[in-house]
Amino acid sequence: MGELLNVADIFGEDVFNDTVMQERLPKKVYKDLKKTIEEGKELELATADVIAHEMKEWAIEKGATHYTHWFQPLTGVTAEKHDSFISAPMGNGKVLMSFSGKELIKGEPDASSFPSGGLRATFEARGYTAWDCTSPAFVRHDAAGATLCIPTAFCSYTGEALDQKTPLLRSMEAVNAQSLRLIRLFGNTTSKKVTPSVGPEQEYFLVDAAKFQQRKDLIYTGRTLFGAMPPKGQELDDHYFGTIRQRIAGFMKDVNEQLWRVGVTSKTQHNEVAPAQHELAPIYAEANVAVDHNHLVMQTLKRVACQHGMKCLLHEKPFAGVNGSGKHNNWSLTTDDGKNLLDPGKTPHENIQFLLVLTCVLKAVDEHADLLRESASDPGNDHRLGANEAPPAIISVFLGEQLEDVLEQLISTGEATHSLKGGKLETGVRTLPDLAKDATDRNRTSPFAFTGNKFEFRMVGSRDSIAGPNVVLNTIVAEAFAEACDVLESAEDFGLAVHDLIKKYATEHYRIVFNGNGYSDEWVEEAERRGLPNIRSMVEAIPALTTDKAVAMFEKFKVFTRTELESRAEIKFENYAKAINIEARTMIDMASKQFIPAVIKYTKELADTVIAVKEAGADAGVQAELLGEISGLLSKTKQALEELIRLTDQAAAMSEGEAQARFYHFDVVPAMEALRAPVDRLEMIVDKEAWPMPSYGDLMFEV
Ligand code: ADP
Ligand code: MG
Repeated sequence: MGELLNVADIFGEDVFNDTVMQERLPKKVYKDLKKTIEEGKELELATADVIAHEMKEWAIEKGATHYTHWFQPLTGVTAEKHDSFISAPMGNGKVLMSFSGKELIKGEPDASSFPSGGLRATFEARGYTAWDCTSPAFVRHDAAGATLCIPTAFCSYTGEALDQKTPLLRSMEAVNAQSLRLIRLFGNTTSKKVTPSVGPEQEYFLVDAAKFQQRKDLIYTGRTLFGAMPPKGQELDDHYFGTIRQRIAGFMKDVNEQLWRVGVTSKTQHNEVAPAQHELAPIYAEANVAVDHNHLVMQTLKRVACQHGMKCLLHEKPFAGVNGSGKHNNWSLTTDDGKNLLDPGKTPHENIQFLLVLTCVLKAVDEHADLLRESASDPGNDHRLGANEAPPAIISVFLGEQLEDVLEQLISTGEATHSLKGGKLETGVRTLPDLAKDATDRNRTSPFAFTGNKFEFRMVGSRDSIAGPNVVLNTIVAEAFAEACDVLESAEDFGLAVHDLIKKYATEHYRIVFNGNGYSDEWVEEAERRGLPNIRSMVEAIPALTTDKAVAMFEKFKVFTRTELESRAEIKFENYAKAINIEARTMIDMASKQFIPAVIKYTKELADTVIAVKEAGADAGVQAELLGEISGLLSKTKQALEELIRLTDQAAAMSEGEAQARFYHFDVVPAMEALRAPVDRLEMIVDKEAWPMPSYGDLMFEV
C-alpha cells in the first residue's frame, strides 16, 4: 500500500480559489474582484496589480517558475505560451520575480498561426488574450516544473472571437438575462443570476504505449485506419462496469489525484462497453468552468497515461467494430440561490414554470436541431453519429412516459387532467408527478434526453471541446425564453397566457419528442415523415452555422456576428479537409511501406513452400490455394492504393473551402474504405508473425 491519500486535504490545493483569494487579498481588492466575477464589473488596473502580485507570490510558493495565458483557439486543443516571472536584472547580477496587473489581464501571443478563418487577415496578425476571472487560475505540475495557468479568452485586435471561450461567455450572459426575465414573471425577485450547469462524462480508450508506437495510424491520426476484428469484441458486455484491472486502477488513481489538486471534481469512473474503454465524470460545474475542466481532464488523461506506459486515445472512433467514445453533456440552468429551472419542483407554482421551461427547450431544439447537430460534428464523430451505436444523427428529445403523457393531455384537451398525483391548479394545469424519483426508464439511444432535472446531450464527440454545444444550447434556449417573455410580459391575464403558450409550444414542437429506439430503421423513416433533419456528416452539418436563421439569432443575442460565423464555418471546412488528408496520406504510407511489402514477402515464403512440398512429393493444394487468394487481395490492395493516391492528390490540389471538404468526404473517404477492405481481409489470412504491426486483439485485450 502506498501513502494514504486524504482527498479533502489535497482538493483544490493548486487552485487560486475563493478561499485563497479571501486569505491573501486585501478586503477591498477581494470585494472588487468578486464584483467583477459575479456582476462583470470592470476591474481597475491598480486592483489587478495587487491581485497579480498575490497570485505570483502564491504560485511561487507552489514552486511555479512561469506563468501562461491558457486559451482555447479554434484548433480544438488548448494553447499556451510560457513566460517566466523573472524581470529586470538589478545590476547586482540578480533578478526580480514580478508579475503585473497588465500581464495578468492581457497577453499578446504571436497569434498569426492560429486558425482565424480570414478574420485577422484584413487587420493584423496579432491576437489578444484576456483574463477570464470567472474560471480560477491554477498551478500545474508537470515535466516543465510548475506553471501558473491563467484561463483566458482569445480575440482579434477588433474584438472578434478567435476562440471557444469568448462565445461561451457571451452565450452565458444571454441565457442569464432571458432566464431572469422568465423567473421574474413567476414571482422570483430574489435570484440575481442564472448560470448553465454542465457535467460532461468523458469516454476514452487506453492502449499500451509500446504497441501504440508501432502503429503509424494511431500516432498520426489517433485512430486505427486498418485492422481486422479479433475473435472477441464487445458482444459479451463483460467489460462494461467490470472489475477495473490493476494497471488501469493505478492509472485512474493518479488521474484523480492530479485532477483533485487542480480543483476538478473527478467523481465517477468505470469500464465502458468496448474492451479497453473507460469513462470519467466530474460533478457538474458552471458551464465555463466545466469547459476548462474538461480540457484539463483530457490533458491529464493523456499525460498520466504516458507516465504509466500507456497511451490514452480520445478519438471518437479508435477501432472499427466496437463502440466509439463520446461525451454526454449534462446541462441545466441554476440560479445563484440554488434553484434548478429544470427541476419539476414540488409545488404547482414551480410546475407551471417548469412546463414553460420544458416546452421552451422543446421549441429551441426543434427550431435549431441543425445547429445542435453541427455543434457535435468533428471528423471523428462522423464514424459514430448514425452508425448504429452512438445516438443517431437525427436530433430528437426523450422525455419519458410521464412527461410525454402530461404533454399529450395538454395538447389534446388543453389541460392535464389525470396526472398521477397532486391537485388541480388555478391555471387548469395539474401538478406533475414527482419526477425526481426516476419514474421513467433510462433511454440510451436518444441524442437529447431529459433525465430528471437536466438534459443530457449525448452527441458530443469524445475529443471535441464541449464549448460549442453549450454555446448553442445556451443561445437557443435564451431565444426561446425571450420569445416567451415577450408574449407573457404584455399579457393581461398571465395565468391564462402562460397556459396557452405552454399548449402552443407543446403542440407545435411535439414532433421533436421521441421515446422509442433511436437506432431503428423505422425511426429514420418516421423522422423523415415528421420533417426532422437527418444530417449525416460534418460537411453537411457545417452550413447550419451561416443560415439566415442562425445568423439572426446569434447576432440578436450578441454571441456571434455574421463575420465570426462565416469564419468559423470556413475553419471547420478547412479542419475537416486537413484531417482527412492526413488520414488518407497515412493510409497510403502504411499500405505502400508496410502492408504490401510484408505481404509480398509472405507470398514468397508461401511460394517456396508450395515448391518444396511438391518436390517432396506431397499435395500442396492448400498452400497454393492460399497463395492464390492472397495474391488476389494483394492486387486489389494495389489498385485501391493507386485510386486513393489519385483522389487525395486531386483533393489536395483544390482550393480550400466547402467544395474541397465535400470532395474529401464524398470521394476520398470511400476510397480509404476501399483500401482498408482488402488489407483487413489479408490480416485475417496472413501469418500473424508476418503482419507488420500489432492487431486489434493485441491493442484492445493486452493493455
Ligand atoms: P450517467 O448515469 O448518465 O452515466 P454520470 O454519473 O456518469 O451519469 O454523469 C452524470 C453527470 O451529470 C455528472 O457529471 C453529474 O454531475 C451531472 N449532473 C447531475 N445533475 C446535473 C444538473 N442538474 N445539471 C448539469 N449536470 C448535472
Ligand atoms: Mg456516465
